[in-house]
Amino acid sequence: MNRTLQVYKFGGASVKDAAALLNLHTILQSRLQTNKLIVVSAMGKTTNALEAVLAKKLEQANFSKEWEQIKHFHLEVCEELFPPAHPVIEKIEQLLDTAQPILDLPISKINYDEVYDQLICYGELLSSLVVSEYLTFKGLTLAWQDARSVIHTDSDFRFAKIDWEKTRSACQNQWAGLLEHTTILTQGFIGRDPLGLTTTLGREGSDFTAAILATSLDAESVTIWKDVPGVLNADPKLFPNTLKFDELRYREAAEMTYFGASVIHPKTIKPLANAGIPLFVKSFLDPEASGTKIHEHAAPHEVPTLVLKKNQVLVTFKVTDFTFIEEQHIQKIYEQLQVLKLRVNMLQVSAITVSIVLDTQLFKLEQLVESLKTAFEIRYNEELELLTILKPRVEEIPMLMEGYALLLEQTTRTTYQAVRRKK
Ligand code: ASP
Ligand code: MG
Repeated sequence: MNRTLQVYKFGGASVKDAAALLNLHTILQSRLQTNKLIVVSAMGKTTNALEAVLAKKLEQANFSKEWEQIKHFHLEVCEELFPPAHPVIEKIEQLLDTAQPILDLPISKINYDEVYDQLICYGELLSSLVVSEYLTFKGLTLAWQDARSVIHTDSDFRFAKIDWEKTRSACQNQWAGLLEHTTILTQGFIGRDPLGLTTTLGREGSDFTAAILATSLDAESVTIWKDVPGVLNADPKLFPNTLKFDELRYREAAEMTYFGASVIHPKTIKPLANAGIPLFVKSFLDPEASGTKIHEHAAPHEVPTLVLKKNQVLVTFKVTDFTFIEEQHIQKIYEQLQVLKLRVNMLQVSAITVSIVLDTQLFKLEQLVESLKTAFEIRYNEELELLTILKPRVEEIPMLMEGYALLLEQTTRTTYQAVRRKK
């Protein structure tokens, strides 16, 4: 049992440049009297940059500029933080060299999802290297560990499922003892399949990693450090007059993430709720502030919560043979969605159509249409937004929809959803 262990997760924004790392050091300096487990994401927008490299490679275009930029970005941050010729520079170069075989793969040999994971993991590998070298340089004691040695998954690349038993015993056998002596710093988002290949847990999956490690090590709490004061009732970049929750129930937080609130990764809550481990969301810009505590016994609230998902596509399937929509039609569509690993954000069925709302994903819409075009007449609208309001106040909805064309709408007792496009 390690009921005193606290797990800290630092996302991309909290390690995005040299100033962010200075701040990270300040936060940790006063908090490492007891050993912690620290999980870091890729720095800034590195994951997107790596995705762009892969996209170029698949188009058979030259990606060396994009690849060099990733390298330069990390080296430049290090130039600001370390004295010249510090070993970190060589370590970064050595690490990036190990990606060469993936970059050199002939295009005919590429299984997108698998290669994606082998390449995209470099964001976290680089970040954890730079952060651990920096904190050590500043005099903190910690051990860099490869998350892939304890996070065991299946081979469902890009969306790998956790082998909880194996992960737990690896954590207990390899890390529990080590944590008695030192703080561990590791990567979010990545794991390893039974064949030893790298897997990833889904975009923004580092929060989930923190939860997996916390439950597998029986930790006391998890803290996610963000650039917002805590969990708010709307994204302050998109809506005015937001309000911070001092506390939330696991269930409420889980529902918000299900509808797309990006403050916490959707898979994070469940393992913590099952284990009764509280989750704190705190600001790395104001570390002394209380943030939000997510736990079982939070007081209920009636505050409307707004969640906006951008880059949505509305796909409508129409039966072509003068029948009506039946279970088998829906089943056929869902089977294909499962094959393509696409998640439905909203579903509406009418007499002769099934409409679904999905996140826009490279190549996937074309594949979906291709695979179902003989069974249905298919239309789609791109570049849409999905607005979800939990505990809506009906009188406030028209104001929120001002300036938007409405394409689809759904209301339940507790939720309002609208698919919309800016006019
Ligand atoms: N770096 C990964 C991403 O950007 C994972 C994470 O940030 O949690 O999706
Ligand atoms: Mg990130």
